[in-house]
Amino acid sequence: MAAARRRLIAGNWKMNGLVRPGLAELAKLAKSARKPARIAPEILICPPATLLQGFRDALREAGAARRIALGGQDCHSAPSGAHTGDLSAEMLKDAGATYVIVGHSERRANHREDNATVREKAAAAHRAGLVSILCVGETLAERDGGRALVTVETQLRASLPSGVNARNTVVAYEPVWAIGTGRTPTPEDVAAVHGHIRKLLRGALPDAQAVRIIYGGSVKADNAAGLLAIVDVDGALVGGASLTAAEFWPIVQAAL
Ligand code: PEP
Repeated sequence: MAAARRRLIAGNWKMNGLVRPGLAELAKLAKSARKPARIAPEILICPPATLLQGFRDALREAGAARRIALGGQDCHSAPSGAHTGDLSAEMLKDAGATYVIVGHSERRANHREDNATVREKAAAAHRAGLVSILCVGETLAERDGGRALVTVETQLRASLPSGVNARNTVVAYEPVWAIGTGRTPTPEDVAAVHGHIRKLLRGALPDAQAVRIIYGGSVKADNAAGLLAIVDVDGALVGGASLTAAEFWPIVQAAL
C-alpha cells in the first residue's frame, strides 16, 4: 500500500441494530479506539440510518468523534422531494454521516439498482459533501465463467460520476459470492481485481494512485491481516463481523 493512502476499516451493519444494544457496542468500540496507535487506520461505522444521530452524539460525548466516522448505507439521488421511505445524502450528512455506501450488491439485487442509479447516488453523495463508497463485484456465475474482471470493469466505468477524486470516493471490491458466506477469493484473485481497478482509475482521474480500494466479503479477525497485506488492498468493508466491537476491533488492529 502506498504511504499516502490511509487504510479504511468500514463496518456495514446492514439492517441490524436497535438503539440500546447498538450504543453499547459503539461505546466498547470507542473505548478501544481511544488507545493511541502508531499508524491508525480510519474507522467507519455505517449503522442503520435510525442510529446515526444517536451515534454521532454518543461519539462526541465519548471524545471519539475524530477516531470513528459514521456513514449511511444508501442514499437517494435527489436532495429532497416526494420519495416515500427514502433518505437523501443531505439528510445523512445532517444526521452525522461523512460517508455513504452506494451500489452495495444487496441494493443492486434487492432493489434492482443498476449502474446508472448507482452513478446518480454517488453524484448525490458528492453534492452533499459525503465520501461515496462505491461497491462493485462479480457473482459466482460471472467468476466461474471467467468474467470477474470484465464485470467489475463494466460496473466501475458505468457507476463513476464525473468529478470523482480520491477525496470523495472509495471503491469497494466485494465479490457477491463472498458476502456473508465465509468464502473469500484467493489472494491472487483479490490482487488481480484490485490491480485492474487501479488501472481503470488511472485512465479516469488524475489522483487515481491516492484512491482507496477496499476489499469486502467475509472479512474476519482471522483473515484480515492476510487480506490487508495484498497489494492495492487499502482497507476492508466488513458486514457480519462489524456488529460487535469484540469481532470488529481485531480487524481494525490488523490494519495498524
Ligand atoms: C458486506 O455486506 O459488505 C459484507 C462484506 O458482508 P460480510 O462481511 O458479512 O461478508
